This record gives sequence, structure tokens and C-alpha cells, in this order.
Amino acid sequence: MAKKSLFDMKPVKGYEKKLEDFFPMERRCSNCLGCKFVPFEKIKSNRFGRNCPSVWHYNFNTYSARGRFQLGQNIIEDGYVKFEGQALDAIFNCQACGACDVGCKVTRFNLEPLAHNIALKERAVEKGLAPVELKAAANSLTKQKTMLPDAKKANRADWAAGLKLKDVSGKETAEYVFFPGCQYAYDPELQKKAKTYVKVLQKAGVDLGYLGKLDMCCGGRAKQTGFREEFEAEAHANAAAWEKAGVVKIVTPCSDCYHAIKRQYALLGIKVEVVHAVELIADLVKAKKLKFKKTLDVAVTYHDPCHLGRLGEPHEDWNGTEKKILNQVHTWEPPRPRYAGTYGIYDAPREILAAIPGVRLIEMERIRENSWCCGAGGGCSVFNPEYSDAIASERVTEAQATGAEAIVTACPWCEINLTGIESDNGTYLDVVDIIDLVAKAL
Ligand code: SF4
Ligand code: SF4
Repeated sequence: MAKKSLFDMKPVKGYEKKLEDFFPMERRCSNCLGCKFVPFEKIKSNRFGRNCPSVWHYNFNTYSARGRFQLGQNIIEDGYVKFEGQALDAIFNCQACGACDVGCKVTRFNLEPLAHNIALKERAVEKGLAPVELKAAANSLTKQKTMLPDAKKANRADWAAGLKLKDVSGKETAEYVFFPGCQYAYDPELQKKAKTYVKVLQKAGVDLGYLGKLDMCCGGRAKQTGFREEFEAEAHANAAAWEKAGVVKIVTPCSDCYHAIKRQYALLGIKVEVVHAVELIADLVKAKKLKFKKTLDVAVTYHDPCHLGRLGEPHEDWNGTEKKILNQVHTWEPPRPRYAGTYGIYDAPREILAAIPGVRLIEMERIRENSWCCGAGGGCSVFNPEYSDAIASERVTEAQATGAEAIVTACPWCEINLTGIESDNGTYLDVVDIIDLVAKAL
């Protein structure tokens, strides 16, 4: 009898949606501006009231979710806008940060601006029109199992050298498998932090392993950049590796991996228990398995990574039907899950910071589901670094306005993109991985 797979690998209903399927949605957009501004009741100042990095930077409607709905409509329905020039520029310079999606859902239940933005990218990719840097990254994913340029599969596990970590690709087993993600696996500075994560978790008694030669990219960036086929191939390769290694629970310090596995893999029928490291550490602190003994005396602000926060909500299966009342009002039976960012991971990192003696958290204006993107989303830092840096600079400026001495985050992409970036006044702010504060205070 064939061995039963841990995963059913059946994509959920609606997963196969293509650009044409968004046509009714494109027409339903009401030009309400929710995708351009922080929800009005939550705006604290005019200065930091915008939510979409793309339209903020380019100051042109086509670079917003609303504009991309119109662009899609013109491309699909009328065919008079072609996949070229400025249209392609607007399509790929979406950070896939999801702020528009959350903003839209304040008043609208039936629109998915983020999924539509990505569907536009997917069609451009199918036509071979992606920026060359993104094509190279996708090619690297296929060949080297990472989207980082110049990184090699053969060096994937180098980061774990010297750690007493169980290798579950062989005969060993562990309760949690540590899934570092590409940045922690390859970046020399971040490799040190990956080691710190492992040591902290082991100190608290977590039974921890890693995938050794079976470890690879989650592929989440391929999905964000429109390389759907490459993403799906990577997701299936990971599922096969986990199956082989008998993986039960995954802990990752990377917000992109977290989102990819928690949300995107679930859409493909690959459902595995995954937690972000901050969730596990917050639980260990509560259980007194990690005790902070030192006082740090520092004022910090916390940057919510998009893929851990608003895009970190778990996927919920829904097999209902859409109905129209009076041929106008859309309803769903049973009620459909509404991904408005509410259930992302916001509290765990804040609980950790609150538990460290001497750490004072001063919040920025745009936080939680309305957080401003770091600028590294959607592969923009790869093919348009100037734009990516401008988005990061806006965040550093906002962080400086709090009076904090450092920005703390829980995502390697955010950490890299915010580091060494000047604010509006030409000064800098330290960017700190939350694990460094944790380790320092133990
Ligand atoms: S918030 Fe939604 S409905 Fe409003 S303009 Fe943006 S995409 Fe359209
Ligand atoms: S995903 Fe982010 S960058 Fe793209 S349209 Fe939405 S808010 Fe703007």
C-alpha cells in the first residue's frame, strides 16, 4: 500500500484564479482611496498618513491598487494598454506589501487588490516581460534553491557549522525544525543571528533540528514577483523534503518564510504547523523557560514586517458560494474569511520587548496592520534599489520621529533594507534584530 502523504497537495478552491477572473473585481473598485491612505480613523498625522509605498513614491494613480485595477481592466477588457513601458513599470513596482488590501477591506468585502497586483505580474512573467534581475533570481531558485544572487546550494548549511543541531535529513528527529530562510542562511552578518536564535531556543530546552542538505528557499519571493510556476515547484520540493525528513513543526525567524508556509503553501494544500521564532520565544518567556536577568536601558521602536503582520494571518479554508441580493449586493454563504490583517503576529514581539528590563517601546504612527513597508517587498530592492531605499528612508524618518534610539524588527529583509538608510534629515538609526536584544538580556 502506498504511504499516505502528510499533505493532500490539492489547491484550495479559487487558487487557480487568473488575471481574467479578476475582471468583475476590477469593475467593482469604487475609487474610494482606501488603498492609498491609512484608514482615516487611524491616521495620526498628515505626514505619515499614506499607506501605499508605490503611489506615495511615484505620485501617479496607476502605481496604486486602484490604478492597477484600471490598468488590468484596460489590458483585459479593452486591450488598448499593452504590457510595455510605463504599464510594466507600474506592475512590477508594487511591493506586494498588502497595505492596499487591508485599506480596501475597511469598507469593501469583495475585492482583493493584492492578489490582483500579483496576477498582473504573473501575466507579465508568462509573457517573458519581468525585469532581468527578477528573471535571474527565479532562475537561481530553480537551479540553486535560493533567490539570492551568487548564493550556492552547496553552501546552504554553512550557517549551522559549530552548532549542536540535530540534522533531520538523516536519522535524527526533533520536535521543531529550524527553517532559517535564505537571508539567515547566506548573509554573513545574519548567519551570526541565526546561530543566536538556535542557541536561545536550545537554552530554553526546545528540541530543535534543521534540514541539513534538504534545506532550501521557501519560494515566497517568487510568488510575490509573479513567478508562480517556480514558486509552486519550490513549495512542492519543500513538502517532499519535509515528508522525507518527517518534519512535524517548523520554526522560522524569517517573516517571508513564515507567510509563504503559513498562507501560500496552505493554498496549495500543503499544511504544516509553522511558527515564527518570536511566537515561540514569547511563549517561552511566559512559561519562564527564558528569564531576562540584565537591564538594557534603551528606547526602541518596533517595525512590523508586512509578511509577519498583516500578511501573517493564517489561511482559512472556505468552500461556500457567492450570491447577489437584488442583483447588486454580494454575500457569501457561509460568511467568507476576511483577511484584513487583524490576526497577524503583532503581540508576540511586543510582549518580548515588554519583558526585557529597561527596554522602552515607543510606537510609530503606522503600526500593526497599517505598518509602512520596509521597501524590500515584491523584489523591488533587487531591480529598483533607489525606489526601495526611498521607501526605507520614509520608515527611518517615521521611526526617528518617535525619539527612539533604534528600530527593532523580526525579519531579515526588513533588517537589511532599513540598515544604513538616511532619514529625511540625513541621519541614521540603528536597526536591531529582536534576537540580539533577547540574547543580550538573558
Ligand atoms: S480601496 Fe479598494 S475599492 Fe477603494 S479605490 Fe482602492 S482598490 Fe478600489
Ligand atoms: S501591495 Fe503595497 S505597494 Fe502594492 S499597491 Fe498595495 S499598498 Fe501599494
